[in-house]
Amino acid sequence: MGHQAPQGAGVGGWGSFKDIFSGIFSGAQHPQQPRGPQPGTDLEYQATVDFWTAIRGGQARIQINRQETCPTCHGQATQGGAMQCPECHGTGQVTQMGGRMKFNITCPRCNGTGRISDACPTCHGEGTVTRSESVDFRIKQGTRDGQRIRLQGKGNAGINGGPPGDLFLIVRTGPHPVFTRQGDDILLTVPVTVAEASLGAKVEVPTIDGRAQLKIPPGTQSGQKLRMRERGVESAQHSGQRGDEIVTVEVAVPHLNDERSREIMRELARLNPQDPRKALFDRL
Ligand SMILES: [Zn+2]
Ligand SMILES: [Zn+2]
Repeated sequence: MGHQAPQGAGVGGWGSFKDIFSGIFSGAQHPQQPRGPQPGTDLEYQATVDFWTAIRGGQARIQINRQETCPTCHGQATQGGAMQCPECHGTGQVTQMGGRMKFNITCPRCNGTGRISDACPTCHGEGTVTRSESVDFRIKQGTRDGQRIRLQGKGNAGINGGPPGDLFLIVRTGPHPVFTRQGDDILLTVPVTVAEASLGAKVEVPTIDGRAQLKIPPGTQSGQKLRMRERGVESAQHSGQRGDEIVTVEVAVPHLNDERSREIMRELARLNPQDPRKALFDRL
């Protein structure tokens, strides 16, 4: 739609200039061209949801920009009369530059008639206006990062009575200072002392339900992962199922500030003459 072949140029090599003109006015919708109902387009937004709200479920809110039906013209885009074409000021012709040459071409906005229907002053002939809006939405218990939520009819308004599009929200679950969420599992790093790691111990660790006991087996290494079954997030997909809490043990090495402790450590080393690097050299 839209652009016309330029007239009255009288210059050779015309074809190449055509390309310059094409597309200048394309895409612009103008009210003198009658349009049928057009559905509104969908919108997609990322919505960051608080760590706990994503786990327990609840309400969240997002600020979006959406096209709404123009309240002045009710989507008609015109006021019902006619006015002078603002593009060509009623002459039906506009001047375009092609390199250093000037060309008169038929005004693409009014198709050379010099008149267009008078555009609605609120929406400038678009039929819709862009509004900032806050949208409330419900978060299901156990909602995961990356999950899509569809809010029907909350997308852009349709034109000429067309239905509105949908709003798609991509959930980003917020961070927590201690827990890391991975699907329905909760990851956590827990420091233990050398004595707890080597002798074994029962330690208290945080879970999303509060404190819980974790058994550290004797001889646990730093970096070892211990699984606490069904201490993770209640699944949104499979009701009754829960993820796990996966604890990464981190051995906290003590600073020995007195001679007696250092002597005990040396004696411990003498009693246990191990070379933890031996396996590295065996595989060379
Ligand atoms: Zn015009
Ligand atoms: Zn309007």
